[in-house]
Amino acid sequence: TTFADLNLKPELLQRLQEMQYHTPTPIQETAIPILLEGRDVAGQAETGSGKTAAYGLPILNALQPELQQIQALVIVPTRELAVQVQKELKLYGQQIRNLKIGAFYGGHKFSEETASLAFPPQVLVCTPGRIVDHLNRQTVELKHLKQLVLDEADKLLEMGFQEELDQLMRNLPKKRQSILFSATMPDKVKGLVVRSLNKPKMLEA
Ligand code: AMP
Repeated sequence: TTFADLNLKPELLQRLQEMQYHTPTPIQETAIPILLEGRDVAGQAETGSGKTAAYGLPILNALQPELQQIQALVIVPTRELAVQVQKELKLYGQQIRNLKIGAFYGGHKFSEETASLAFPPQVLVCTPGRIVDHLNRQTVELKHLKQLVLDEADKLLEMGFQEELDQLMRNLPKKRQSILFSATMPDKVKGLVVRSLNKPKMLEA
């Protein structure tokens, strides 16, 4: 399989070619077609496996660039990962016009984040505590959300973000595509899969 065999928009395929990405990694090869069908996916994947593109490309493929609303939310455990994922998604989405990708995280200026929401990004990468802060202060509008990603789910739970994730889930549209990636799949992560995803396809490493 090459990326050209995957049903991605021309803007993404051209960009992948420019970046000299020719062959999808194993997790990309299995996850991308399932995600393009709109199904939920729980995938076991480590850093370095290409998991960011495995969920990032289908998200960028599905969003409506002309709609200036948060359509996809990527929850990550740390601010470092938030910045890294934002950077990577920006690279993949470079040829999509009007695309905005935001990153919010603890330690970032709250007022700056709120001001940026006057022109909301289509994709928001965020740490759990920070999205809950925005929900509590009603600064963020998530009713147009169509896709949720829980990245490094084992780390999210290890860091004690269960309550924040539950509160977030109660504030998201029920009808959405949910995607979870985790380096390991212990029972507590499987529990999160059951609570947050709808008939997910499980992709084991
Ligand atoms: P990740 O596992 O998402 O942290 O990705 C690991 C690194 O591999 C990142 O720096 C990506 O830019 C790169 N990468 C992801 N997918 C591919 C691919 N199909 N071909 C070449 N490089 C890739």
